[in-house]
Amino acid sequence: MMACARTYYDTVSLRNSAIDIKTSGGIESAYVPVVCHACKDPPCALACPTGALTKRKGGGVVLKKEICTGCGQCIDACLVGAIHLDGEGRAIVCRHCGVCAKFCPHGVLEMRKVEDKDEAEILPSKTADKEDA
Ligand code: SF4
Ligand code: SF4
Repeated sequence: MMACARTYYDTVSLRNSAIDIKTSGGIESAYVPVVCHACKDPPCALACPTGALTKRKGGGVVLKKEICTGCGQCIDACLVGAIHLDGEGRAIVCRHCGVCAKFCPHGVLEMRKVEDKDEAEILPSKTADKEDA
C-alpha cells in the first residue's frame, strides 16, 4: 500500500493506495489483499457517467482522473470493492503496474500473466498459499 501511494501520489497516506488490505473476518483472522481483478467487461466502466473509466486492453480499466467527479458509482458497481476515493475525492483503481508486488517484503503478492491472453493480474503468491496452509 505504501509503495503504491508513494509511487503515484508521493505520499504515505493509505487512502492514496489502489490496493487495500482487509481482514477476512475479525482481527485475528487472515489478511486479504483487495485489488482490481482486471474484469474483461468492467462493470465499473459501464457505470461511470463521465467516461472517466474506460476499458483497458487486457482487462481492467484506465482512469482519466481529470474528468472524474467523485460520484462513487464505480464503487457501487465493482463487486470486489476494488475502487475507492482518494484523498482528493476522486476514484483510485489499480493500474496493474506491479509495484506493490515488487516491494512486498514477504512475497505475498506477485504479478502473473494469465495464460489464455495477454492479461496481467495481481494475486496472492504461491509462497503465501503455502504459509497459510
Ligand atoms: S475495479 Fe472492480 S469492476 Fe472495475 S475492472 Fe477492477 S475488479 Fe472489475
Ligand atoms: S467516481 Fe469518477 S470514475 Fe467513478 S463513476 Fe464517478 S466519475 Fe466515474
